[in-house]
Amino acid sequence: MSNESVLLVYPPSQWGYIDRFCQPLGALTLGSILKEAGIKVNVIDLSGEGWSPQQLFNHMNEENYTHVGATILTPFRDIGYGILKAAKKINPNVVTLAGGPHVSFFKEKVLTEYPELDVAVSGEADLDIVDIIQNPTKKFYDLGCVEDIDSLPIPDRSHVRQIEYNELAGIYMDDSASMKWIRGCPWRKCRFCSRNELTLKHRRRSPEKIIEEIAIIQHELKYKNILVVDDSLALNTKFAKTILKLKIKEGLDIPFWALARVDQIDEEAFQLMKRANCSGLQVGIESVVPRVIDLYKKAPGDPKEWLPKVDRALELADKYDIIMIGSFIVGGPTETAKEIQTTIDYLRTSKVDIVQPFAFQYVIGSEFWHEAIDSGQLKPDDIYAYNDKKYGTSPYTAKEIFDKVLEAEDLVNSPVLNPGRYVRLVKKFIKQKKWRVIWKNILQLPKIIQGLLLEHPYDIVIEDELND
Ligand code: SF4
Repeated sequence: MSNESVLLVYPPSQWGYIDRFCQPLGALTLGSILKEAGIKVNVIDLSGEGWSPQQLFNHMNEENYTHVGATILTPFRDIGYGILKAAKKINPNVVTLAGGPHVSFFKEKVLTEYPELDVAVSGEADLDIVDIIQNPTKKFYDLGCVEDIDSLPIPDRSHVRQIEYNELAGIYMDDSASMKWIRGCPWRKCRFCSRNELTLKHRRRSPEKIIEEIAIIQHELKYKNILVVDDSLALNTKFAKTILKLKIKEGLDIPFWALARVDQIDEEAFQLMKRANCSGLQVGIESVVPRVIDLYKKAPGDPKEWLPKVDRALELADKYDIIMIGSFIVGGPTETAKEIQTTIDYLRTSKVDIVQPFAFQYVIGSEFWHEAIDSGQLKPDDIYAYNDKKYGTSPYTAKEIFDKVLEAEDLVNSPVLNPGRYVRLVKKFIKQKKWRVIWKNILQLPKIIQGLLLEHPYDIVIEDELND
């Protein structure tokens, strides 16, 4: 065992806020690599743990780490840097490290922005992390991507096994291990998304390695569910179908959910998903208006084909009892009131089981954001601006766009206003025979109804965001 003792922290979006959707796979993979190199390492997911700042500071005080690293996400960067600053205050000799999307975008500028930082790492650190810890030669590492992702160990989930990650879009999924089958989005063209600038090229793991990991998750770690958190997995590919076939062949019947592309799932994929015990998919629908889909560069080919493809996927999901969670964007640049309403009307009557509407944001690194900066509409430090009438790119103010989001959520998701949706959702769960999951979801139904009927929890978030 070497003398180094490393803490990797995944910061929360706000202190005390509990988010148990997804495990911090990047940090957990680095945890495996450091452990294999004989370096003492701990990984803490602060959103999963729900720790207060004091709990973390007491922990750092007791453990006396030689290195503290944090994943820095642009909207929550102050919390990430605050943790590193505190680590330095507790132990002035500690080496502080930062990685994640914010560093990958701003590169070495983060070193002047946050002087407490000793080392900043842009890109994927998996192949270099041991050297960076043991023999650092510079303050800024501009790393590319790992070509052979099969060569990496599986994430060390022992650091987070005490946390039950179980929630997806308000649905209880069961005790879940998150997993990646690929790295990087295969499409990388959507103009509202920062992936084409902030993440590296699309790579796939081998189906055999994926199956090996699924077996460990099911048999050794005893998780009850898997959440595949890839960027837009194409399920109609030979790659995805091979994984599903192997999962069936090996008798790995652990249920799973996946984040997938709605336009790239064919009937064979749905058949295989059902046999492989897939509970549901989360897909980005964004809009059903061809002009808007074209504007967003959401999909290849004729944008008029988008809606028929979405319809077909929803029909097939219904046929094979796969739950569909669909997200869409409200208030994109130049999106008219009529176009917004067309999408909301479609979603009300469509076979999407849960709808997630989002207010459009100019996300740093996205094509829309760059264009807004170039045209002078936004300033470079407007890193997550909402669309607004004042820019001349929406008929609505940001507040009115949020009201539309709430209206859409209530119209589509409310068990009172749209009971048919819940009947279909329950039917799918029953056909999947997921009794434990049904029971857990029934238990949290009063909470959902109370939220919808009394005060919308989203109101508070929206007020906060608009006041920021
Ligand atoms: S929105 Fe999804 S499909 Fe589009 S570029 Fe981003 S990750 Fe890829």
